Amino acid sequence: MKGVVRIGVLGAGQLGRMLALAARPLGIGVVAIDPAEDAPAATVAEVWRGAYDDPALLARLEVAAEAVTFEFENVPPAALERLAQRRPVWPSPGALAEGRDRLREKALFERVGIPVPRHRAVRDRADLDRAVVELGGRAVVKTRYGGFDGRGQAVLDGPVDAATWDALSSSPLLAEAFVPFRRELSLVVARGADGALAFYPLVENLHQQGVLRLTLAPAPDVPSAVEADVRAAVTRLLEHLGYVGVLALELFDTGTGWLANEMAPRVHNSGHWSIEGAETSQFENHLRAGLGWPLGSAAPRGVSAMLNLLGEMPEHAALLRVPGTHLHHYEKAARPARKLGHLTLTAPDAPTLAQRLRAVAEVVPSLREAAHHGARRLDTRSLVR
Ligand code: AMP
Repeated sequence: MKGVVRIGVLGAGQLGRMLALAARPLGIGVVAIDPAEDAPAATVAEVWRGAYDDPALLARLEVAAEAVTFEFENVPPAALERLAQRRPVWPSPGALAEGRDRLREKALFERVGIPVPRHRAVRDRADLDRAVVELGGRAVVKTRYGGFDGRGQAVLDGPVDAATWDALSSSPLLAEAFVPFRRELSLVVARGADGALAFYPLVENLHQQGVLRLTLAPAPDVPSAVEADVRAAVTRLLEHLGYVGVLALELFDTGTGWLANEMAPRVHNSGHWSIEGAETSQFENHLRAGLGWPLGSAAPRGVSAMLNLLGEMPEHAALLRVPGTHLHHYEKAARPARKLGHLTLTAPDAPTLAQRLRAVAEVVPSLREAAHHGARRLDTRSLVR
């Protein structure tokens, strides 16, 4: 391929935006469909406003794009299946369907030997109360479809109260044992069309109210046997699915082992650090995979920390004074708790990164807690890896 390539993306949020920004230097243009009025990708890509399954827009996309991907997993399956009849779609609609239902996803994980928390499908309210007891007295009830960023779930320590039941029970539910995890980790990996794999290092994530606040890349103190075990498990999953593109797997580190929480069949928030912190970003590798090009190295360049900017954007000048700062502004309208951007701090080593996190904590009050948490984790990491 020597000329300019155009790809289609269903969704033009910040993931679509970062995909478009990674695409341009390679001579890849992006055309995206999104129902939002102010889609963040619109300033860097061609965005057609409309429903994801608008037949006229899909017909135009089939003509305009050589291959199609998506930036989130809740796009209508029928739209992707239709596109897949005319153009290569990556990852495949089949791979996407496996992860759409949290219950089916867990069954898939078990089939390929990925450990998961104990869990049960929930039929009615009495069934949920029984499940909480059977799962050890503390459980997380989740909607099977559509929840993200902590929405559509609740922690239960006993019988469910009426308000929680009413809020969740309009969709099918499952209950899983509450995992008293030591920390949360995730693995981002790209699989090429030829089956080649590019693994990013396991990263450590801090969530608050179900929303990602901080990623440390690589995660401190991951025994190499654990990293190898997770990689082997994810390889079985990718091969089973015949997967092409980037996939993320979220994990709980229990201190004595690990359990999978969920997968995302797309580029992932816990991989944003790779834009500046890895040899090749997750966005570029997703594009390379979909276009049948060789993958780039996913090796980290030094150490990085990614902080999500929620609710309000900080003042640029104060932040940019901190060395190693890379600011990403998604150009979204500010709303409380909304992801408006992120910040990646890069450094040659962990002590320098801790110092930079503390400097950020000084200048951005809303990042203080997450940045200090990250700095403390880096201070207390064991010196032996
Ligand atoms: P999810 O939407 O499934 O990714 O869950 C969002 C967050 O809720 C996770 O990142 C965890 O912090 C927490 N969480 C989810 N499931 C469990 C569980 N079984 N035990 C403990 N915490 C959980």
